[in-house]
Amino acid sequence: MAQAAGPPRTVLITVDDDPAVSRAVARDLRRRYGESYRVVRAESGESALEALRELKLRGDPVAVIIADYRMPAMSGIEFLEQAIDIYPDARRVLLTAYADTGAAIDAINVIDLDHYLLKPWEPPEEKLYPVLDDLLEVWRAADHRRVAVTKVVGHRWSARSSAVREFLARNEVPYRWYSSDDPEGRRLLAAAGEDGRRLPLVVTPDGTALVAPADRDLAARVGLATTPAADFYDLVIIGGGPAGLGAAVYGASEGLRTVLVERSATGGQAGQSSRIENYLGFPDGVSGAQLTDRARRQAAKFGAEILTAREVTGLEVGGAARVVRFADGSAIAGHTVILATGVSYRQLDAPGAAELTGCGVFYGSALTEAAACQGQDVYIVGGANSAGQAALYLARSAKSVTLVVRGPTLAATMSHYLVQQVEEAPEISVRANTVVEAAHGEHQLERLTLRDTESGGSELVDAQWMFVFIGAAPRTDWLEGTVLRDSRGFILTGPDLAPEGRLPAGWELDRPPYHLETNVPGVFVAGDARAESAKRVASAVGEGAMAVMLAHRYLEQS
Ligand SMILES: Cc1cc2nc3c(=O)[nH]c(=O)nc-3n(C[C@H](O)[C@H](O)[C@H](O)COP(=O)(O)OP(=O)(O)OC[C@H]3O[C@@H](n4cnc5c(N)ncnc54)[C@H](O)[C@@H]3O)c2cc1C
Repeated sequence: MAQAAGPPRTVLITVDDDPAVSRAVARDLRRRYGESYRVVRAESGESALEALRELKLRGDPVAVIIADYRMPAMSGIEFLEQAIDIYPDARRVLLTAYADTGAAIDAINVIDLDHYLLKPWEPPEEKLYPVLDDLLEVWRAADHRRVAVTKVVGHRWSARSSAVREFLARNEVPYRWYSSDDPEGRRLLAAAGEDGRRLPLVVTPDGTALVAPADRDLAARVGLATTPAADFYDLVIIGGGPAGLGAAVYGASEGLRTVLVERSATGGQAGQSSRIENYLGFPDGVSGAQLTDRARRQAAKFGAEILTAREVTGLEVGGAARVVRFADGSAIAGHTVILATGVSYRQLDAPGAAELTGCGVFYGSALTEAAACQGQDVYIVGGANSAGQAALYLARSAKSVTLVVRGPTLAATMSHYLVQQVEEAPEISVRANTVVEAAHGEHQLERLTLRDTESGGSELVDAQWMFVFIGAAPRTDWLEGTVLRDSRGFILTGPDLAPEGRLPAGWELDRPPYHLETNVPGVFVAGDARAESAKRVASAVGEGAMAVMLAHRYLEQS
């Protein structure tokens, strides 16, 4: 069997309670197969099962299991019965004394035994190796490639399973999904000692099992940085969307010690876009994931530190330092700060929607859920570009896509090119003048009540999937008392802080705030979080670059 470079990962496991016999079997196996296979030895059924569970979580294939028949605590047959549950494809051999051949023959049917081997097996060239060669050939005929990526065992209607998948996908951590109903999903759960009530189970490539992990835990285990390397920086950027990533690239490339702190996954809203068609330099469009991946690599190349799954909950002014506090109470500080926190999806205010979020009701996770919508009827709520993009993307796999739009047409809210594509797609239909009045379902979305705002009539429709794109709002409450915002929470900067030429209260410098500067000197805003911003990828990236330029100016003068 061809093995990847490094020590062999495919395992031959042998279990015998007599240490001398156990060592002898292992020695003979190593002599012939040691270069291509890893030989694992155990001296009881229980410890062999433990080893198999660990191998399962690590994703290492097991080709052959050899068990002694007479073991005191657990017989070879009892052991093999349980071992099959973990590795159903492994070939099975029972080691027996002559007197036990009757039992061994019976076991052929009970546990689907491949072979029984009489002790002693001397010389192995005649009695052991030919048997093993045949079994290994049979085993190799099937595909047993090792799955060296993170594995997620979850359920389609488990909200935390959906959130974990989205978190991994948006952070570009490769993973393989197993439903908890599938045999392999059940085997992984059993190997981790779980019964499927706590989902999802995440198994990292090194075999660590995490049950329903929080984002920060998960991030740290899959190799994403979550802890700052220093406690003081020239520039602290809060938010890892296009504005934050743009600022990180320019800040780090211009020599500022830069850290970017992202609550969830880099990319922000743009990371959730299936195709951005109007970003300069990409005439054929670019997916948000691609753009994010390039931007993140570019920022890292210039030396920016990127922390994921860390939420900022406070900003304090400590003399010349700007102190940024995390949700767990810890803090870092910087000479300058760029707030690039963007906006978050507005929640649908309809009875049932909150309870079913992640269980059929989704906000902006159309990309990760698309595969599961194959051949299904899908509802999308909203009439803006994000809803149009999601409809086109889902129409590739769904049976039908219904756009539920409050207004009379799409024209007022969606770009012309998208309206045309939506109208040309046969799978997409538009229900204008319609709102979702309620979402129904016990554990998952089952039906929606749709109300026609013109006639006032309501209709109950079957629905398992609803994606909501009804606008967004800034989540800036944590800046209350420090940074001035408008009535909707967008952050005021530059000229907007001094509408009639009056400087904001408490402003002590003899110059007015710079264009993207807040009422706190040295704290800037870029992108969608800024009042009166353009809500476009290009403008967010541009503002990120401009905020860095202004941060330099601030540093030179302070
Ligand atoms: C589906 C969709 C499709 C779109 N398509 C296009 C398009 O085709 N063309 C176009 O020009 N624009 C498009 N847009 C709009 C565009 O994506 C946004 O204008 C752009 O992403 C704004 O960038 P931003 O960096 O200001 O904010 P965001 O992208 O919103 O990023 C803000 C980031 O800050 C993080 N954050 C927030 N608060 C905190 C905190 N307290 N601590 C740490 N991190 C925090 C968030 O998790 C988020 O990652 C689309 C938007 C969506 C949703």
